[in-house]
Amino acid sequence: MSKLLIIGAGGVGQVVTHKCSQKPEIFSEICLASRTKSKCDKIASQLKRPIRTERVDADNVPELVALIKDFKPELVVNVALPYQDLTIMDACLETGVNYLDTANYEPKDVAKFEYKWQWAYQEKFKKAGLMALLGCGFDPGATNIFTSYMKKHYFSKMKYVDIVDCNAGNHGKHFATNFNPEINIREITQNGRFFENGEWKEIEAMSIHKPIFYPEVGDKESYLLYHEELESLVKNYPEIERIRFWMTFSENYINHLKVLEHVGMTRIDEVEHKGMKIVPLEFLKSLLPEPASLGENYTGKTCIGVQIEGEDKEGKPTKKFIYNVCDHAESYKETFAQAVSYTTGVPAMIGAMLMMKGIWKGEGVFNVEEMDPDPFMERMNLDGLPWKETTF
Ligand code: NDP
Repeated sequence: MSKLLIIGAGGVGQVVTHKCSQKPEIFSEICLASRTKSKCDKIASQLKRPIRTERVDADNVPELVALIKDFKPELVVNVALPYQDLTIMDACLETGVNYLDTANYEPKDVAKFEYKWQWAYQEKFKKAGLMALLGCGFDPGATNIFTSYMKKHYFSKMKYVDIVDCNAGNHGKHFATNFNPEINIREITQNGRFFENGEWKEIEAMSIHKPIFYPEVGDKESYLLYHEELESLVKNYPEIERIRFWMTFSENYINHLKVLEHVGMTRIDEVEHKGMKIVPLEFLKSLLPEPASLGENYTGKTCIGVQIEGEDKEGKPTKKFIYNVCDHAESYKETFAQAVSYTTGVPAMIGAMLMMKGIWKGEGVFNVEEMDPDPFMERMNLDGLPWKETTF
């Protein structure tokens, strides 16, 4: 028996549930729980085998504990929002269950992407003999593992690391975000940051950009952003001299975002409206299409990878680029979800599978690059996210 509890029935939750349900030999029973049960039921209705669905408020530890005690999973996969990371970790500790997520905790009132809150659970998980695996999506997730794989097999020293993320897809909407709008806009509107020569350098949001070549896609204007995997990679690979994260945005996306920012719609503080308090970004989220609804008719591809320059095992200069290309329409055919949800959900399923099988194990809180990359890389090729390596 290997029971899995998935929390969050959005775009990513949809993919994780689809992919896990395809592997009854590993995930013998699945429960999908989220704030809105009808969304869980909709996903369940698309599957070839029955799963349990539940409503749960993941901000509420006693509710989570009651659900976990009743279902008795071996592992909880958290694909709700980053705001729920700590409450779900608390519930896992209280019930003695392992934990996996795809995004680091963020407090609601400040757009801060830091592992410090979750790393602080290290001793608690260790003492309880439990494992918490952080950031097992694509970026963070596969990108951390591409880095550890290149370190293991090719590099004696990684000097310059660039994580490059391109979505060259078209969903046909004037403006939409490919994952949760609130989290996405908070990420993009904060200052950019990168690490160089032992220190973090901060830049104005979206102020550094350049074209980058993405295989199967072409040259795309890419913007330097701060992304959470930079923090764990710098910690786990102190040899890195410079690490940056780049993401593509269309001109149309940036123009919309600028207007929204200028009129105050991306603010995350409360404002007074007709005697009520509202948070503009939360209101904007309710107007925008849900990521899970973007799959139909989405065309084009994503290309996400890691480019590393450094010294090979013999100390000679070398460059390697590992990447995956994922097609929106193909993702939709398999899981009714677009490629951004797909590229996040598949790594979460693979991480869950490796934990369930005891291939990835440990006591404490881990980032994915601390695990052996080989079994994960092998599964990516088998489970829908084949990767390639080249130079750049
Ligand atoms: P969605 O907004 O589509 O889905 C989020 C889901 O979480 C919704 O079903 C929502 O419920 C549910 N939820 C929110 N709050 C609660 C709560 N208090 N209790 C229970 N359920 C709740 O987002 P995505 O699926 O796009 O993203 C999911 C996660 O994946 C996010 O944390 C995101 O940051 C992360 N992500 C990671 C990536 C990576 O590569 N590492 C890339 C993309 C996303 P409701 O429907 O009722 O609102």
